[in-house]
Amino acid sequence: MTADPSTGTGISGNPVMVRYGELFLKSEPVRHHFISMLLRNIRHALAANGLSARFETPRGRILIFGEEPGQIADIVARVFGVIDVSICTLTGKEVETLSSAAADLAFSHIGSGKSFAVRAKRQQKVGLTSQELGEQIGSAVYDCIPGLRVDLEKPDYEIFVEVRDFGGLVYDSRIPAPGGLPFGTQGHVLVLLSSGIDSPVASWLAMKRGCEITHLHLDAGRWAGADVLAAATENHRKLSCWCPGQEIRMVIVKNEALFDEMQRLRIQPRYRCVICKRFMHRVAARIMGSEGQQALVTGENLGQVASQTLANLSVISEAVTVPVLRPLITYDKEETITLARRIGTFDTHPGDLACRAVPKMPATAALLVEIQACEQRMDMDAIIRTACENTRMVTARDGRIRDDDPEDTPPPDGDGMIGFTG
Ligand code: ATP
Ligand code: MG
Repeated sequence: MTADPSTGTGISGNPVMVRYGELFLKSEPVRHHFISMLLRNIRHALAANGLSARFETPRGRILIFGEEPGQIADIVARVFGVIDVSICTLTGKEVETLSSAAADLAFSHIGSGKSFAVRAKRQQKVGLTSQELGEQIGSAVYDCIPGLRVDLEKPDYEIFVEVRDFGGLVYDSRIPAPGGLPFGTQGHVLVLLSSGIDSPVASWLAMKRGCEITHLHLDAGRWAGADVLAAATENHRKLSCWCPGQEIRMVIVKNEALFDEMQRLRIQPRYRCVICKRFMHRVAARIMGSEGQQALVTGENLGQVASQTLANLSVISEAVTVPVLRPLITYDKEETITLARRIGTFDTHPGDLACRAVPKMPATAALLVEIQACEQRMDMDAIIRTACENTRMVTARDGRIRDDDPEDTPPPDGDGMIGFTG
């Protein structure tokens, strides 16, 4: 029993089938653009892993033909815009051929006593209905393998059959992918990336919704824990695994002088966090002004820490006019940690990440006028200007770091690949 992989349509071989999601909602030209970006990203991802492949784009699907379908499926299951992938047997459209491929697949995966179901779908609404098709293929499988049971509710094993105008696709698993929109379709954002848990997740979510990203890290020097810069760089490195074949940059700006100045002028310690966050936002806005990113993304969350009360968030937002996106604003910490684990940025031994400037009792409802008065005393504009004139850049690609200041480069820990399991 061997399925004939030839469909008589010029499409042949056993493909990895890519199902993409929301692109269906788009108009024809937008959809074409999005699909071409998705194809570009998939090509980059395969090339970054030393693989090449051939593509077909029948309506609603991408078929990838290559030598290592298993490896291709694993790689494509981490590409944004993809809902899931399946390694398929490509057949003709006749019931006999579809049945034979389905029975072949089932034969190597289940045996006597197990339950199964066939889920059939057809593109053209002529001939057998989907249900009739499923029943006929199901009974062929049943005849071939002794002792099977049909269970349409909770089967041990499912066989999926799709009949499309170019032929049939038969498969038995759907590997979940992150969904979202193809990377690069939604413009470019600047992400405030820290050594913490939240901002890498916020960055990943922005990428998932199609944004190209540049990271910005504020290095507080002696005010920061010994491992903060290395941990932020590690977050940057890990996130680069999610846009394979494409380089992402992290701009590093020193903000040690800000804390020195707050100390020198004896600014009330309770205002430090809000002043620090306003500073970060203003540095970010300035960089966006010269680089052209369209929005700022942060890992801020409602009520997580004292600087993130609604009152403080509004005082922080007041510092800039650029759009500020906060993808995690309503997340519980546990939800963020779960996602951080799934995307590979959660570190169980992060080291010394303390901020030495955090006061015992930070203000939970700082008044804008009081904050502004402090900033005027400090000549904030001058501190920001000086900080932005002394930036450093670290680029990352496919989980590898390149630093324009090699002496400071933390060693990559080598695991370029991070999995995504739905
Ligand atoms: P995270 O929130 O990412 O876990 P954190 O808890 O150290 O980091 P918060 O005080 O919660 O930081 O800061 C809120 C947000 O401000 C962060 O999510 C991040 O977007 C930004 N941020 C904080 N510290 C830095 C930094 N040193 N450089 C760049 N951005 C930062
Ligand atoms: Mg936080």
